[in-house]
Amino acid sequence: MIKELVTDEALLSTPCEAATADDAELAQDLLDTLESIEDGACLAANQIGVAKAVIAYRDDKDRMHVMFNPTMKRALRPVRMEEGCLTREETSKVTRFDQATFHYQELVDGALIPRKKECRGWTAQILQHMIDHCNGKLV
Ligand SMILES: [Zn+2]
Repeated sequence: MIKELVTDEALLSTPCEAATADDAELAQDLLDTLESIEDGACLAANQIGVAKAVIAYRDDKDRMHVMFNPTMKRALRPVRMEEGCLTREETSKVTRFDQATFHYQELVDGALIPRKKECRGWTAQILQHMIDHCNGKLV
């Protein structure tokens, strides 16, 4: 279901709880909402009002993905860049890593399965932005 975006900073600054296999509907809401936003790259659950560590993103081939409880494990090559956010008006200067390994869980047949993925460039950048959201960190 398409949800309304949350811009309340107090809500967005609250660290998210760990997500569980019961959050399947939330994951679907994230995908539906992100899909409805033209040029939307990524969306965290607290941006649609649910403080759980679930995120959705669009990769550089325009495919949609969901991650449960994402964390960054190994990061290389810090880069200074300017970054925007769907729930903030102004852009911010941040340091992101150009290459990183992410650990997360994927929901498969009702159970969360551990996964990891090595990403570079754009995908690595948006995933770092998403993990910040899960930690209640605003850029
Ligand atoms: Zn954001």
